[in-house]
Amino acid sequence: MGKKTFAESILSWYRRHGRHLPWRETKDPYRVWVSEIMLQQTTVKAVTPYYDRWMKLFPDMNTLGRAPLQSVLKAWEGLGYYQRARNLRASAGIFVERFSGQIPPSYETLIRLPGFGPYTTSAVLSIAFDLPYPVLDANVRRVLMRYFLIEGNVSPNNDNLLRTNLDPLLPAKGMGDFNQALMELGALVCTPGNPQCLLCPVREGCRGLEAGEQEVIPAPKSMPSTRLEAVVAVFEQNGRFLIQQRPPTGLLAGLWEFPGGKIEPGESREQALRREMKEELGADIEVGPYLTGVTHAYTRFVVRLHVYECRLKTEPKKSGPPRRWITLRGMNRFPFPSGSVRIIRFLGNRAKNRAEEDSHTR
Ligand code: SF4
Repeated sequence: MGKKTFAESILSWYRRHGRHLPWRETKDPYRVWVSEIMLQQTTVKAVTPYYDRWMKLFPDMNTLGRAPLQSVLKAWEGLGYYQRARNLRASAGIFVERFSGQIPPSYETLIRLPGFGPYTTSAVLSIAFDLPYPVLDANVRRVLMRYFLIEGNVSPNNDNLLRTNLDPLLPAKGMGDFNQALMELGALVCTPGNPQCLLCPVREGCRGLEAGEQEVIPAPKSMPSTRLEAVVAVFEQNGRFLIQQRPPTGLLAGLWEFPGGKIEPGESREQALRREMKEELGADIEVGPYLTGVTHAYTRFVVRLHVYECRLKTEPKKSGPPRRWITLRGMNRFPFPSGSVRIIRFLGNRAKNRAEEDSHTR
C-alpha cells in the first residue's frame, strides 16, 4: 500500500467512524492541550465529564493561569496522575505571563515547558496548528507494531523504528486528523486483546495480519505486582473529621488525606495504626471498629487501605503537615486522591444510613 492510500484510507475511515467528542469540535489550542493532557493514561469515558466540568471552571488560558493550585487539583480529583494538573497550571501561568495567554506554535519552545513531552508537544502542534508532527501514544504504537510486524512490548524504545517506517506514509497535510485517526483506530478497531481486522481500513497492507500475528503483537505487559498494605485512621469529633495534607513533593503531592501509613512486616493493623499516629500526630490513640477496605492500583503497585474508626487519647502535636477538622460537606473544597474519595463516600453513606435509622426510631 503506497503513501497516499494509507493516509487516505485512515482519514476517510475516521471521518465516517470517529467518535464525536467535545474536544474534537474545536482546534482551539488551549482546549486541545487540556484534552491531550487529560487523555494520557486515561480513557475517553473517564475524561469526558472532567473535560466538560473543567471548561466551565477554566474556560480559557487566562482563567487557568491565574487559578489557585488547590482549585485546579480539586477539579482534577479522581482523574489520577496529579502531576498532570500541576503541570497544566504551571504551563498556563507561563503562557499568560510570557505569551499573552497563547500557546506558541513552536516545538522548541513547548518542549521545555512543564508537562510538554514529545507526545503532548506533537499532539498540540499537529491538532491545533496542523504542523507536521506525528504522535506515538500506546494506541498508535500498537497499530504500527502490528501493521509493520515489529515484535516486542509497547514501549518508547521502538519509537525510532516506528517513525522510520511511518515517515513515508504520512500525509502532506491534515496531520492533526491523521494523528487522531490513528489513535482512534487503535482505540476502536486495532484494540489490545481482540483486533477487529475485518473492519480495519488498512488491513490490506497489514503485515501483522498477513502473518497471523495480530493478536500476539505487542507482547502483553505484566501487571503491577507489588502490593502494599496500609492502615487509615478516621477521627471524628462533633461531625468533623481530621484530614492532613501530603508533602509538596512525591506521590500525590499536595493532596489531602486521612492520617495513616504502611503496615510494617510483622505488625498487626492495630499496632501499625498506633505507631503511625504516634509518628505522624504525636498522639496516643484508641483503635475502634473496622470501617471499610479500599483497594487502589497505581502504575507500579497496588495499595489495600484498611480503614478504622479511631479516637484520640491525647492531643495531636501542633507541628507537622497542615491539618484540619472538616465536615463531610466541607471536604468538597479539598483535593483528595481516589482512595480517600472512596473513604469519604463510605462515610457519607454511613451518615445517611444513620440519619434514616434515627428518623425511623423517632
Ligand atoms: S489489520 Fe488488524 S492488526 Fe492490522 S492494523 Fe488493522 S486491526 Fe490492526
